[in-house]
Amino acid sequence: MAAKKKNKKATVAPSPADNRDFRTGELYAPAPEARDHATIEARYDLFIGGKFVPAENGKVFATVNPATEETLSEVAAAGAADVDRAVAAARKAFPAWSRLKAAERGKYLFRLARLLQERAREFAVIESLDGGKPIRESRDIDIPLAAAHFFYYAGWADKLAYAFPGRNVAPLGVAAQIIPWNFPLLMAAWKIAPALACGNTVVLKPAETTPLTALKLAELIADADLPPGVVNILTGNGSTGDALVRHPDIDKVAFTGSTAVGKRIQKALAARGTPHTLELGGKAAHIIFDDAPIDQAVEGIVNGIFFNQGHVCCAGSRLLVQEGVAGTIIRKLKRRMETLIVGDPLDKNTDIGAINSRAQLERIRELVDSGVREGASLHQSAQPLPAKGYWFAPTIFTDTAQSQRIVQEEIFGPVLTISTFRTPDEAVDKANNTPYGLSGGVWTDKGARIFGATRALRAGVVWANTFNRFDPASPFGGYKESGLGREGGLQGLAPYLHLLP
Ligand code: NAD
Repeated sequence: MAAKKKNKKATVAPSPADNRDFRTGELYAPAPEARDHATIEARYDLFIGGKFVPAENGKVFATVNPATEETLSEVAAAGAADVDRAVAAARKAFPAWSRLKAAERGKYLFRLARLLQERAREFAVIESLDGGKPIRESRDIDIPLAAAHFFYYAGWADKLAYAFPGRNVAPLGVAAQIIPWNFPLLMAAWKIAPALACGNTVVLKPAETTPLTALKLAELIADADLPPGVVNILTGNGSTGDALVRHPDIDKVAFTGSTAVGKRIQKALAARGTPHTLELGGKAAHIIFDDAPIDQAVEGIVNGIFFNQGHVCCAGSRLLVQEGVAGTIIRKLKRRMETLIVGDPLDKNTDIGAINSRAQLERIRELVDSGVREGASLHQSAQPLPAKGYWFAPTIFTDTAQSQRIVQEEIFGPVLTISTFRTPDEAVDKANNTPYGLSGGVWTDKGARIFGATRALRAGVVWANTFNRFDPASPFGGYKESGLGREGGLQGLAPYLHLLP
């Protein structure tokens, strides 16, 4: 039986009394009606072999609400012995799961998708409490998209022969999957759904600052009666991830996270030849031509960089504007920034929530300071920020140079750099001038410009006259230091299969 302590429910305590809502002057407290939809246990264990079990060494860590700095729950920290147990459980479950009639595997995934939809509200609230993202986004984007991924790959489970005509397909075995904190449940769905549809079993490690929705998903996996060991969830930090990646009995690694850790993982796997996919960082160029619909483009820019506090690998974090419209775009953008509401993630009117962790806030501050030191002009929204919690004002930099750190490095926060260009070629040269190549965007009235730019941009995803749109049917992944392989769509199945002649 689950070792999870059902009796000790954590109530999410109101914020301290010195914390006032900057718009109303009222004492700040997350909307109670939203909070009521979330059940967060005081303590969570590891999910191994279909059961919740404590870490062998008994270690735990706290997961914190970044909007209030309060501890939401204590979570088990998996050590090497727990990694062994989880991989063994996944290995044991593999033969029966991989031989199960494909349509039956699909049914389990459909069941998970429906359960997620039924409990979507609870998942959305927990995602916002644990990660800091606005409830509007977790409610309307993260959770529905996660369910959509399970539905999508459920549909593929018994059609793999049609996905790869003329080939025999076989699952790889035990997949080690490691995910970041910016879209916790969605990243879990991106990983688990295709792996299971192809007949693999899974050990998933969520990020240390946002473990709660993956653990809620473990509850649904148990409710859906998935055979024990098909999905195992290990919470912990980078050392847990490292032990998982280096485990000798895994057949595949799927990693989403920073380029630095991705490189380390690739090095660790090089000698063994374990198949791996890496979804890494980005520094997308968002290109606005002078014939673009200006007001829509400004909304696109706002969505491109301020969605999810800019904690988005494919964020449109480098704006390239054609000279003739640069003044108008920057003026309108500054005005629009003043209307963005930064604050309580559980408030439906919030546009920008809390920065995910103190460490991430410090990284954003450090990079922004470097931009000022290197001579770029800083402009920030004048909206005051809540007193407690981790917050960063919407920020833009003008007068930038291609060599500055803020233009080259991923900031992963609500910070946009702006530069101008004269010709399409100059725009493309600047766009491609970073080590990354994950995504890009183009705003123009002319189809020829869209096709010209999208062909020339070295980026895995390019949006035209929109930004940050996602669909389970479309593949996602990077060029250069943004990664290796694709997730999503038909292309997302191949990395989980042996494709035999
Ligand atoms: P991170 O690399 O620090 O951590 C990601 C995950 O890896 C976490 O679960 C962490 O515990 C684990 N980890 C850390 N060190 C490890 C090690 N040595 N071995 C194995 N696992 C280890 O990244 P982050 O800060 O959590 O996430 C932000 C990064 O993720 C950004 O760079 C962002 O661009 C990227 N990202 C990419 C995509 C994509 O699809 N390309 C999507 C989301 C986020």
